[in-house]
Amino acid sequence: MTFLDYAAAPESRALLTLRSEYGLFINGEFVAGGGAPFATISPATEEHLTSIATATEEDIATAVAAARRAYDTVWSRMPARDRGKYLYRIARLVQERSRELAVAESLDNGKPIKESRDVDIPLVAAWFFSYAGWADKLDYAGLGANPRSLGVAAQIIPWNFPLLMLAWKIAPALATGNTVVLKPAETTSLTALLFAEILQQAELPPGVVNIITGAGATGAALVAHEDVDKVAFTGSTEVGRSIARQVAGTSKRLTLELGGKAANIVFDDAPLDEAIEGIVNGIFFNQGQVCCAGSRLLVQENIHDEVIERLQSRLATLRLGDPLDKNTDIGALNSREQLERITELAAVGEAEGAQRWSSVCDIPTTGFWFAPTIFTGVHTSSRIAREEIFGPVLSVLTFRTTAEAIAKANNTPYGLSAGIWSEKGSRVLAVADALRAGVVWANTFNRFDPTSPFGGYKESGYGREGGRHGLAAYLTASGDNAPLRTAAETQGGVQ
Ligand code: NAP
Ligand code: MG
Repeated sequence: MTFLDYAAAPESRALLTLRSEYGLFINGEFVAGGGAPFATISPATEEHLTSIATATEEDIATAVAAARRAYDTVWSRMPARDRGKYLYRIARLVQERSRELAVAESLDNGKPIKESRDVDIPLVAAWFFSYAGWADKLDYAGLGANPRSLGVAAQIIPWNFPLLMLAWKIAPALATGNTVVLKPAETTSLTALLFAEILQQAELPPGVVNIITGAGATGAALVAHEDVDKVAFTGSTEVGRSIARQVAGTSKRLTLELGGKAANIVFDDAPLDEAIEGIVNGIFFNQGQVCCAGSRLLVQENIHDEVIERLQSRLATLRLGDPLDKNTDIGALNSREQLERITELAAVGEAEGAQRWSSVCDIPTTGFWFAPTIFTGVHTSSRIAREEIFGPVLSVLTFRTTAEAIAKANNTPYGLSAGIWSEKGSRVLAVADALRAGVVWANTFNRFDPTSPFGGYKESGYGREGGRHGLAAYLTASGDNAPLRTAAETQGGVQ
């Protein structure tokens, strides 16, 4: 079969002006960091984009002190409706600068521009709009009258949805009256620093949000700082565990959004055209570097061959290449480290006896790339059925009965998300009820909405982000053993 050729359709970089170096964003200003600066590159071309500061323990102390001061003197005293106005302003500025942010995100992360432009950045704005509306309605958050903010929140985010994870963290924290010190991932700090410029444009009071950059050690030092009241972490289960150990025995509150190994379950009565699109979206969106990716396909045995055949012919049409090209479906992986891990796990899959199929793509000679890959004949005990690969690799298992599908889907240490494909509503509801997963999609996959809670069971973490539930992570219900409130707060600041 031959396919139409596409002409190159690159998005212009003209809107994006990068500085040659970026400092830390502390107390409303960019300041030099005490550590050695590091480079951020485009994972598609390995082009050097800019140089980024490393925060030392002293820098972290300065940032936390700025957040504390802003909490005590400004943010906790401010009428809640005014806090809301700042969040609306940030949301509108994100919309105004959306093309620039999308280009920066695709350059720095490697994800296709059609995803950053149509998914990531619109959701960032939606998150700020949604939580802006909550700021003066916290009495209706289900936590009783006058729920209280916690104080200074330390927030650490991963590289797969850099600006979106920032929005998931900062929007609810600010709406509930907390101040923030946020650390983005080392390989994708760029859009967080552009976001800092947006905060300056929005004239957010200095110190309400501070952004400190650096590697894992910077994150660990932030978590360890004694004047932090709340730690919110999204990342790997391994680092989540170490953070849980670090804050154990302190008064710090903790929420963890960790890894996943979601089952995407296709019954034989499923609308197959849609299911194929849903399987593709489930595992190849963002090159599969998605915590809630549908990485385990559970397909009913009698339609297995048809589903695989249709999936392979669909995957043959996906275009891998320049993330800034508007026709690109599969961009670059975020880092060499990520590529090596995926390559290793795919080799394990073959060694364990599963059948490997990869779509034929022209792999660019620079950057980090992996062709969309499907493993069939995967056993439940196989490492590629159990471990999070975090890449464009689908493991296919089969089932005969609904009970078997449920048992296999739940046979994982994780519990973040799942998908069900069936024409029969009663079956969808019954299966969803039996799945131990925080989010269950029915006849769709990877849909996100700021009003819908997101979070895990088991080793996928605890706490919820999004919606009314997401507010609880940053509030103390009246009557709880709350941290001391400042005089200002008692005088009616947090409403
Ligand atoms: P990671 O290594 O755990 O890193 C996440 C963040 O933590 C990064 O900012 C990282 O900094 C920092 N960090 C590393 N070591 C730390 C330490 N000891 N103390 C404090 N912070 C530390 O995870 P990743 O590999 O970047 O991200 C992929 C993982 O995140 C996957 O497992 C995925 O499932 C999970 N994830 C979960 C969700 C969710 O909502 N549940 C969403 C997205 C991703 P550096 O980058 O500078 O090392
Ligand atoms: Mg980068």
